[in-house]
Amino acid sequence: MSQTPRSRVAALPSEAFGRRLLVDCPACEGRAVIHVGDPGGRSIDAAARRLVCEACGLTRDQAQTPMGVIADPFMGRPPRLRMETRHGTLVAWNEAHLDYLERYLAGGLREEAPAAEGGVRNASIVSRLPAWAKAAKNRDEVVKAIARVRRERL
Ligand SMILES: [Zn+2]
Repeated sequence: MSQTPRSRVAALPSEAFGRRLLVDCPACEGRAVIHVGDPGGRSIDAAARRLVCEACGLTRDQAQTPMGVIADPFMGRPPRLRMETRHGTLVAWNEAHLDYLERYLAGGLREEAPAAEGGVRNASIVSRLPAWAKAAKNRDEVVKAIARVRRERL
């Protein structure tokens, strides 16, 4: 990745980040990690998952979601990496996702580079960003909010 220009970020499928979700612990408000299991061909949101708090050790399990049922992938907890801005809130699922958003937004609004292998190209992460987060006039504020979250929430 070292030769990747700052303004270009490899396109990644959402599964690249969706296996590890950072949330606030329901017991102590510390940093908890939701480890997401293999979705077995279904949507990653349906996979079984386990929440483990890194601060107090609390553990909670959520079984695979039955067909036709929609469960909260964050297990009802607030995502830990929330960038609050005047325009709205942007969420990063985990450290790697935060890095990805920061590189994408700080580098300017370039098209995503194709994935390195197989030509798989999935712009879903970036296309799901709200328009205000991608607006050039808000970039400084969003990038600052990311830096604040990195300082205070990681
Ligand atoms: Zn805890």
